[in-house]
Amino acid sequence: MRFLPVFLDLKAGPVVLIGAGELLRAKLRVLTAAGARLRVHAIDGNHDLGLSPEHAARVDIATGDPLTADFAGVVAIVCAGAGEVGIAMSARAKALGLPVNVMDDLEHSSFIFPAIVDRGDVVVAIGTGGTSPVVARRVREKIEALLPARIGELAEFIGGFRKSVNERIAEFPLRRRFWERVVDGPIGAAVLAGRKGEADAALRAISDPSAFARADEPGGSVALVGAGPGDPDLLTIKALRALQNADVVFHDELVSPEILDRIRRDTTRVPVGRRVGKPGIGQDAINRRMIEAAQSGQRVVRLKGGDPFVFGRGGEEVQALRAAGIAYSIIPGITAGLGGAAHFEVPLTYRQEALRVTFLTAHKVHDAEAVDWSNLTDTQMTVVVYMGMTAAPAVQAGLLAAGRSPETPVGVFARVTRPDAQGALGTLRDLPELAARIEQGPAILIIGDVVRHADVSRNEAILKSPKQIISDLLDAAE
Ligand code: SAH
Repeated sequence: MRFLPVFLDLKAGPVVLIGAGELLRAKLRVLTAAGARLRVHAIDGNHDLGLSPEHAARVDIATGDPLTADFAGVVAIVCAGAGEVGIAMSARAKALGLPVNVMDDLEHSSFIFPAIVDRGDVVVAIGTGGTSPVVARRVREKIEALLPARIGELAEFIGGFRKSVNERIAEFPLRRRFWERVVDGPIGAAVLAGRKGEADAALRAISDPSAFARADEPGGSVALVGAGPGDPDLLTIKALRALQNADVVFHDELVSPEILDRIRRDTTRVPVGRRVGKPGIGQDAINRRMIEAAQSGQRVVRLKGGDPFVFGRGGEEVQALRAAGIAYSIIPGITAGLGGAAHFEVPLTYRQEALRVTFLTAHKVHDAEAVDWSNLTDTQMTVVVYMGMTAAPAVQAGLLAAGRSPETPVGVFARVTRPDAQGALGTLRDLPELAARIEQGPAILIIGDVVRHADVSRNEAILKSPKQIISDLLDAAE
């Protein structure tokens, strides 16, 4: 991110607008609509700006040279269609410490204009770092469709009560709960439905705001949330809501940064990661800290890779929560096996070919007693192995010894659903070699006839090392 979105107070002083022609008039419309006072240098001398009388009152026509004019009190400088003058102005603005925008010229701009969704007090600014106005417009269309028409009125309505409620509820978290109850409850619904009078009366009728905020306070709670295998768009709507409402999130190391980005900004994040080769704080400590946080009234999210109940120790955490009498809920996630199957197009079941699926952990595979390989020889069964990268030789040995054919198709799928996913296809005969080709985990193994339907070609570019890509290009050129 090069440009930080901030909101500029246009009451603080005039904006200087320099330029010519339709480009100048277009920026003039944007700025006057936002309530700016403007000082316009029309460098082509054409002062017919096509303003409505209402807007004209806020626009001064400046006749002097903008390169030498006095800019005391000015809040920003905008150059639209100003050509060379724009570039010179940029240098001057920077020397004066004033924010400057030169239209379509990132190099000479210290700020840029976002695409805007305008709902009164609710304004959404969309930026693409100046790279693509078309993408920004598409995002804007999506947000336009998402936001209730009266969301601005709701913000304004709350603004009107904010001061008095702040004075009556000192504690910040309680205040937040108060407004959440207002926004999410019947009062918010009334404003959004255009019944402001009714909402106003209902809010005024609350005699004890603290009690109202606490009324249906569920007390502390824990949600065990499945984060899925990495792609943030694979979070469920419920999971997203839990991340937005949490006071504290205890998360595995395995959870991708893009998903952690979806947590509300002021939520406390506690990595409790167990990761291969790196000890975490330990399951008992995790349970204890979750329970303590919930007992102190916090909304706790325990965020886990994939699904909490698939090799995620969610069962043990639920037991601990039950024993401690904590309110909890479980929000499932897409487990790595399902994410990998979708990503690399392996239908886990297939008429005639695969009638069963087994999810297996290879964590204990070196303990010969732990896995009964004879259960896994059914050719109509697809076997999905978690934590199987380093154990790949042992998995191969176990399956072959039990009698599964060395020709059984096998796939090793790493970092599934992420942009840097990698897949390697072959047979049980070369399983260890396939696993060795994977640069970095986590990875699952899928074993069974259905793997013959897999497709890793779409990931080919990222499968290759840069060196290999260059040598392939050279080969192709020959
Ligand atoms: N609860 C998780 C599994 C945790 S065990 C789930 O349901 O997915 C950790 C193992 O999950 C890893 O060793 C690996 O086998 C698998 N795994 C997790 N994320 C993965 C990903 N993005 N790609 C491939 N395998 C993954």
